[in-house]
Amino acid sequence: MGRKFFVGGNWKCNGTGEEVKKIVATLNNAEVPSPDVVDVVVSPPFVFLTSVKSSLRPEFHVAAQNCWVKKGGAFTGEVSAEMLASLDIPWVILGHSERRALLNESNEFVGDKVAYALSQGLKVIACVGETLEQRESGSTMAVVAEQTKAIADRVSNWADVVLAYEPVWAIGTGKVASPAQAQEVHAELRAWLSKNVSADVASTTRIIYGGSVNGANCNELAGQPDVDGFLVGGASLKPEFVDIIKSAT
Ligand code: PEP
Repeated sequence: MGRKFFVGGNWKCNGTGEEVKKIVATLNNAEVPSPDVVDVVVSPPFVFLTSVKSSLRPEFHVAAQNCWVKKGGAFTGEVSAEMLASLDIPWVILGHSERRALLNESNEFVGDKVAYALSQGLKVIACVGETLEQRESGSTMAVVAEQTKAIADRVSNWADVVLAYEPVWAIGTGKVASPAQAQEVHAELRAWLSKNVSADVASTTRIIYGGSVNGANCNELAGQPDVDGFLVGGASLKPEFVDIIKSAT
């Protein structure tokens, strides 16, 4: 069976209550391919998670943008995986490059978070990606392999993991990776999974691309054999997110 296309929308730290209602209304009124063809998961800020979950059409799902690395407790300002699970929030994004860079989240910390979130029954969108400096020095694959290894060392159940390849230089910059650049890294990541985890995990795990995806560039990227969908930032707040969902077909 082929890998089902996956489109995630990362709203980041954006949106007021009114703006969120408008985005949800746009999504609820959109004509999109059936859930047999595409998984759609939007990730509002924590404060809007439950209202978006209850107002969004049922075939679309929600993801938190982060969760704490272990059981909740005296960790002021954090949100635990147990809390998300208890509210039936099915997904969480972990290892986003903004958190890696701004909050110093290490590969090991991200790997621990992924393992803990999975242990609590959440599904994880795990992000990896190189900086411009790393790409220009030819270390793209070494960087993403090390980030993926920190996850693979701690995780045995890959069925609930979607891997998001998000080159840092393409995030929020308008500089999208070319379809060939995305395909090259996705294929190498899949080969890495085959060699270091298993052939089955490599062939079934969805590897999605993120970095300045929009309504105009999504179709060509979606046509690449190892691009199984997208994690979309800026464009997920706009009506063109619907066009990105449609690129599944
Ligand atoms: C992201 O934040 O995951 C992302 C890919 O952002 P953008 O689409 O805005 O580049």
